[in-house]
Amino acid sequence: MSINRLLAGAAAIFLAACPVAGAAEPDLAARLELLVEAYPDSLSGVEGTTLLFKDGGAPLEIDDGKAKDHAAALSSGDVEDSLRQIYPLGPCERKPEVDFDPGRIRSDALMMRLYGASAKAVGAELVPVDWFGETLRVTKRQGAAAALEKVRDALAAKPELKRYLSPSAGVFNWRKVSGAKNMSVHSFGAAIDLNTKFADYWIWSGGKPGRVKTFANKYPLEIVEIFEQHGFVWGGRWYHYDTMHFEYRPELIAIAKAAGAAACR
Ligand SMILES: [Zn+2]
Repeated sequence: MSINRLLAGAAAIFLAACPVAGAAEPDLAARLELLVEAYPDSLSGVEGTTLLFKDGGAPLEIDDGKAKDHAAALSSGDVEDSLRQIYPLGPCERKPEVDFDPGRIRSDALMMRLYGASAKAVGAELVPVDWFGETLRVTKRQGAAAALEKVRDALAAKPELKRYLSPSAGVFNWRKVSGAKNMSVHSFGAAIDLNTKFADYWIWSGGKPGRVKTFANKYPLEIVEIFEQHGFVWGGRWYHYDTMHFEYRPELIAIAKAAGAAACR
């Protein structure tokens, strides 16, 4: 997608995400800067059309230059595609607009550089995280496990929430997104599913890609707010919704803050 189309699309989504008056929408350069800041262990900057890595490995192309509809962006997103939709923050929910899936578009190439390019490589980075009496295995890369521990500590202060949180439906699972070609963030040990007993999922409700009629959520929004405060985005914000799913995407939280994108009207 061209930068002009990106900006036009982002402007529409920016309105949908209900910005705070006066906040300036970050352009692609500003979003890339926030991306680099969000992964300081791995990313060192932007040079020309590429992302640079601290390990000195090959720079990664930011934009493949291909025009993509939403389905194509989901199945083969590049870095620029992954920053296209601005995630709205805060303890409010509503049925998302058609194909508004902020966070669901990802660059597999970038995720593999951040977390590992195989089940074995990711597995070597997993550390135990106590989760309300269970032990989860979460990647320590990019500070994800430490962030989840902060989420847990904040949630532990509200014992009435425990039934929504545990048993967890899992963290690490090297796999593609259900019915799709791209990798699930569970592959990288950086996403957690909560207690499935309260889960609503677009596929279970009979939705088809691009045609999801329903939206439902049973998780209290204070859970969402706490995850967001520590760098996780919620699958309950997505048109293709997955309400038990949270994934560590600190760049999207930073961009949301810079944009003043609020979920609460
Ligand atoms: Zn999940």
